Amino acid sequence: MSENIKTYEAEGIIIYWKPNICKHAAECVKGLPSVFNTQNRPWISPQNATAKKVMEVIDRCPSRALTYEQK
Ligand code: SF4
Repeated sequence: MSENIKTYEAEGIIIYWKPNICKHAAECVKGLPSVFNTQNRPWISPQNATAKKVMEVIDRCPSRALTYEQK
């Protein structure tokens, strides 16, 4: 079974999001609304904050639906 993974790139970071395991706990949306905003398409805009800040918030994702790789 192939896993559904979406990717979002910006300076210094690649974000991976797995919609199938997202629990919609909204830690990301509350933690950094300039980047994680479900009203936007795409809903993740990693260029709107520093890679360091984005990584801090992703580390709080309880389901690990969000992960990242540093470029
Ligand atoms: S913090 Fe993780 S589980 Fe919660 S809404 Fe964001 S991606 Fe989904």
